[in-house]
Amino acid sequence: MEYQSDFLVIGSGLAGLGYALKVARHGSVNVVTKRSIMETSTRQAQGGIAAVLGPDDSFDLHIKDTLMAGDGLCHQDTAEMVVRSGPERIRELVSLGAHFDLAGDSGTGFDLTREGGHSCRRIIHAHDMTGQEVISILVARVLEQPNITVFENHIAVDLITRHKLVRRGAVTTNVEEYCLGAYVLDTATGQVDTFIAPIILLATGGAGKVYLYTSNPDIATGDGVAIAFRAGASIANMEFIQFHPTCLYHPLAKNFLISEAVRGEGGILLDKRGTPFMAKYHPLKDLAFRDVVARAIDTELKKSGDDCVFLDISHKSKDFVQARFPGIYQKCLEFGIDITSQPIPVVPAAHYSCGGVITDLLGRTNIKNLYAVGEVAMTGLHGANRLASNSLLEALVFSHEAARHAVEVLPQIPKRKFSEVPPWDPSGAVDSDENVVVTQNWDEIRRFMWNYVGIVRSDKRLMRARHRIDLIQQEINDYYWNFLITSDLVELRNIATVADLIITCALQRKESRGLHYTLDYPEKDDANWLKDTVITAS
Ligand SMILES: Cc1cc2nc3c(=O)[nH]c(=O)nc-3n(C[C@H](O)[C@H](O)[C@H](O)COP(=O)(O)OP(=O)(O)OC[C@H]3O[C@@H](n4cnc5c(N)ncnc54)[C@H](O)[C@@H]3O)c2cc1C
Repeated sequence: MEYQSDFLVIGSGLAGLGYALKVARHGSVNVVTKRSIMETSTRQAQGGIAAVLGPDDSFDLHIKDTLMAGDGLCHQDTAEMVVRSGPERIRELVSLGAHFDLAGDSGTGFDLTREGGHSCRRIIHAHDMTGQEVISILVARVLEQPNITVFENHIAVDLITRHKLVRRGAVTTNVEEYCLGAYVLDTATGQVDTFIAPIILLATGGAGKVYLYTSNPDIATGDGVAIAFRAGASIANMEFIQFHPTCLYHPLAKNFLISEAVRGEGGILLDKRGTPFMAKYHPLKDLAFRDVVARAIDTELKKSGDDCVFLDISHKSKDFVQARFPGIYQKCLEFGIDITSQPIPVVPAAHYSCGGVITDLLGRTNIKNLYAVGEVAMTGLHGANRLASNSLLEALVFSHEAARHAVEVLPQIPKRKFSEVPPWDPSGAVDSDENVVVTQNWDEIRRFMWNYVGIVRSDKRLMRARHRIDLIQQEINDYYWNFLITSDLVELRNIATVADLIITCALQRKESRGLHYTLDYPEKDDANWLKDTVITAS
């Protein structure tokens, strides 16, 4: 099948839907999303959105906190732009119908909470389900829009670029690289459809699934970064993966976070033998910063070979625990863990990818007509470490800026014809009877990324990962072109590419900074490494 629109949006999180709603006033929009429209990281966001809304807050303070967390690598102009636009973008969300918790004494009417790294209260939230509120409103507004067509269960496989057409002999002259659409697998029919548009937005979210343990939903396989990289986009800072210290460890739990507030309320981390261990790592013990705790747990697990550690809040009264953590209490109970009487098995988990496709302040990538917004992008806001609740803000602000620019340039971009674009060519590929290759490689990548490219790295561990990913990439490539593609195969190829990019960036950075910690270079080295790690496809 062939589909044409003025704007093609890949992804239905805050970045994709926020953008789609804005550009829909100026043209037709096709949104492709690989599962159901709601299946996004946006929906899982618990804490909230950071914005300067309180009477004791200021743009300068929020910018300062952002730069401090970023450990020298934030781009000042991005931080300024995002922080200063925050309040206006929040007001827009409210005008779309989003409800955030209110409090009479904040000066703005919002109940503002405080999170680690913020020097004052500036997080708006909807209970502990902010993402659910935001995505529900966006989906409702999108479905009302006659100009927007949503294609669920459609997974983008590759971008269609001029370069590709040259390779296939469809065009010959040598002009600037541009993007004209995407090949998209309809998972219901197994067919690869061709979507073309003058302007394409990548809003595919994060890449947590590259790691064995992650807080991210299943969709977070780094597709956008891999797709963009194959198309020739520049990628940066993939070594900066944020790990949440405590994710529930249970074979059926998948990705349930145990809030840091449990430690805040007196929860103690224990090893398998019931011994507290945080005093060995930081004077603040269990109240140490997120990165310190994640690193301490990782060290304990590597030393002992255990699968998990335990977080114990059972010394507090049953009434207190049930009232303070009703969601966590209920969820753990579903897995047979009564947190009022027993410790919770936890592991750290990959949570957020600070790196991604490099964009400018308008969300433009280095490929003409291709934009990237949200977790898939590297805008310069987060630097080497993300300040809590700045990611939803970034998606909100950049979807606005990218939309504003896209509607401005749309009239100047020539509309392409389907005749210019060859359909997807399966080249004699047949149905696979060896799907075990996919599951084997999938498990292997996620496990060695966890063990060798996780919270604490070293050159030796990274080189082990390098050798393995090289072999696996070769195997996947052979397999990829011989068999008809499935969504599992597309995702496997993408997590392999993203794993490769993370390893490459981590090997390049010969220092420890922000979220990148290596035993071989434990200090920060501003003289040589006060810069982004940029990878450009050859
Ligand atoms: C548990 C959890 C809690 C969080 N809490 C907070 C918080 O409190 N505050 C905060 O600021 N941030 C938080 N974050 C981070 C934040 O939620 C994300 O960074 C943000 O939602 C990303 O939005 P996005 O639109 O870029 O991506 P997403 O919301 O993940 O959307 C990505 C979309 O792309 C689609 N997609 C992916 N690949 C393809 C493909 N190949 N083809 C078609 N579609 C594709 C997906 O199906 C999905 O629709 C949290 C994240 C998690 C996981």
